[in-house]
Amino acid sequence: MSRWPSAVCGSPEMIADSDRMDFDDLDARVAAYAASADSNNTVRTYIWAWKRFTAWCERTGHVSLPASPQTINRYMTQAADDSDNPVASSTLEVWRAAIACMHGQAGLADPTADPSARRTRRGIRKTRAVSGETLLRAPVAVLSDVQSMVETAHADARTWRAQVAARRDIALILVSYDFARRRSDTVALTIGDLAVVEDDTVNERLLRMRLPGNSIGHGRAQFIYRPRGSRDGLMCSWCGLARWIAVLYACDSAAEAARGRSGEALSDARSVAVQRLLRRDTGDPREHCCGGTWLVGRAAASIFRSLSHGGIPHAPETALSGRSVSAIINARSREAGIGRRSGHSLRAGVSTQMYDDGATDEQVMALAGYRNPASAQRYDRRRAQRSAASSTGL
Ligand SMILES: [Zn+2]
Repeated sequence: MSRWPSAVCGSPEMIADSDRMDFDDLDARVAAYAASADSNNTVRTYIWAWKRFTAWCERTGHVSLPASPQTINRYMTQAADDSDNPVASSTLEVWRAAIACMHGQAGLADPTADPSARRTRRGIRKTRAVSGETLLRAPVAVLSDVQSMVETAHADARTWRAQVAARRDIALILVSYDFARRRSDTVALTIGDLAVVEDDTVNERLLRMRLPGNSIGHGRAQFIYRPRGSRDGLMCSWCGLARWIAVLYACDSAAEAARGRSGEALSDARSVAVQRLLRRDTGDPREHCCGGTWLVGRAAASIFRSLSHGGIPHAPETALSGRSVSAIINARSREAGIGRRSGHSLRAGVSTQMYDDGATDEQVMALAGYRNPASAQRYDRRRAQRSAASSTGL
């Protein structure tokens, strides 16, 4: 029996009258194709992919067989942009291949081979690569990668606008890594979520971060604590935040003082305040600047924001999107010459680095918030070699 049900080749009402064909002939050729298919899995996958396509065509009023290149472009673009049901590029390629295969079996020209369909696919691939949004997992970013990204961002910032962007991006990189946060946690961060607290048991000051969705009064608040950096000020997450929050504070205070003035005057006031801050700040960035009071500004003000065309941070209530975080990390990693990294690379990378440095599962789980050791151990690249670490008594 044929493994290709005739239904998957499109029902007659989906086909324009002029395109009606001999289904007996088609089914015979489908059966021949099925017999020579590489595996049952391929057949099943193509059948499913074809059903998905014909269902979409029915829903949206498109003809599935023969499909026009425009139909293919619409279908692929909608699938690629559907953030609720993210699809890997490899899956999109399977869907395309299934459509091509069914047209081939029906003796029709392959609409996915049309130049416009090819161009659209190339565009989807390129956009995904640039924004770091491909679902293929980006390589982890360990300490040496983070250092390259931070050093390059700092060294390349020659104009004041580039310095503003570098301060934001360095803070973003260091917080994502040092606090092992998800992109959604990082973008939700406000000034009020941070506090410097004393840990009496070890007599040490710690930076406490409240995690989003756990505000006091709505269930038990969840916090994560980090000490200040043990290296220099450039690689200290506290210092990175302090330098960036100083920019936000200068900008937001100027906006507050200029309230009621025209949009242009407001924007000028903010720009002048930020430039003045950067000119005044002549300290060595390798010296820690995270002592004293640096958590300033309105509690509800977002920390990670996009920048205006003029190079200054947007208003306090406009947080970056998770997609922008990935784009920033990806751009900074490429500039540092280490290839593509995503927002997840930093969170995964700190777990890998901790295991490399001898951390226990419990320690990795406590920082990154994994609920079970198996989730944490995915990032332990030397797990197999660890079998040598225990003595068997021989
Ligand atoms: Zn510091």
